[in-house]
Amino acid sequence: MRPTGALHLGNYHGALKNWVELQYQYECYFFVADWHALTTGYEDTSQIEDNVREILIDWLAAGLNPGVATLFIQSRVPEHAELHLLLSMITPLGWLERVPSYKDQQEQLKDKDLATYGFLGYPLLQSADVLIYRSAFVPVGEDQVAHIEIAREVARRFNHLYGREPDFEQKAEKATKSLGSRNATLYRQLRRKYQESGDKEALEKARALVQNNARITVADRDRLLGYLEGVGLTILPEPHALLTHTPKVVGTDGRKMSKSYGNTIGLREDPESVEKKLKAMQTDPARKRRSDPGDPEKCPVWDLHKIYSDAPTKEWVQHGCRTASIGCLECKKPLIDAVVAEITTMRKRAQEFQDNPDLVRGIIDEGCEKAREVARQTLQDVREAMGLSYR
Ligand code: SF4
Repeated sequence: MRPTGALHLGNYHGALKNWVELQYQYECYFFVADWHALTTGYEDTSQIEDNVREILIDWLAAGLNPGVATLFIQSRVPEHAELHLLLSMITPLGWLERVPSYKDQQEQLKDKDLATYGFLGYPLLQSADVLIYRSAFVPVGEDQVAHIEIAREVARRFNHLYGREPDFEQKAEKATKSLGSRNATLYRQLRRKYQESGDKEALEKARALVQNNARITVADRDRLLGYLEGVGLTILPEPHALLTHTPKVVGTDGRKMSKSYGNTIGLREDPESVEKKLKAMQTDPARKRRSDPGDPEKCPVWDLHKIYSDAPTKEWVQHGCRTASIGCLECKKPLIDAVVAEITTMRKRAQEFQDNPDLVRGIIDEGCEKAREVARQTLQDVREAMGLSYR
């Protein structure tokens, strides 16, 4: 996530809430993408430090748990930059120019000069961010799938160019035995199934078998992953997009909640201000008078009810709106209560971290160090594969 200011409910329901769940299902790495903020906001960097601090407090307030997930700041793990540089050597310019967001964003942000090297290269920096952790999945929305595709292509190209070693087959066979006899048999069966009939399920099962095996070394794991697909060493595994359904979060003016529209409700906003904003929120224009029936499908308040309200409340809104038996302020009341309750929980959690900046610093120091350990290992393998290890 880029540090562009305090987070709002759109960020929470669109991504963060999902991350909070994912951290208990996967080994997760979440980072504040301060270098990415520079790709479009390089002229004024005065707010970055404050924004990074605030976003970290927002994350902790939302329930990201440093006890299970690794939280860090991108620029504190300089290995991302080195991998980006090395990958830039093998990435055709056309791959970056074709990323849909390249032209779109230049159109949208016309007031900024985005004809820079950093802006063109940011999907590659993102690829490095993902590949350096040998990530299996990246939680993204539909609009980011093209970026994951680039990361996959770059990884494939890298493995193709550098994933060769003498005696690969023999080493892969030896590595298979290290899986243990039962797993080795299963691995061979799944590999045959995939190579003979292209069975993708067998491929995924074999990958999981290798990735979850704690007995083998990192080098053997890379060999076995590559051997599976009939290529050489897989130094950088291809990541997958983890698409998750996220609800539409509307802002107070009925458009998508976004800082650039000035229609947001902050994650830690003062409850009085939240109540004021929601009371003034647009409703179905057909309800000019209290006695006019309305249609929730034409009302942005209903979009928020879909996120915050239980089934009986939603039923009450549907019926009450269409029959004009409830007024709009009445309809907004349970919504205001739910949003204020959510924000109040966040505010309480955040207070501890606001009062104790050293606590946040400690969490981030630890997260950066943990991330660096993993990143260093990948980079060492990358350097070795490229013939740059100079031992
Ligand atoms: Fe919207 Fe509720 Fe008013 Fe209907 S009653 S127009 S759903 S605020």
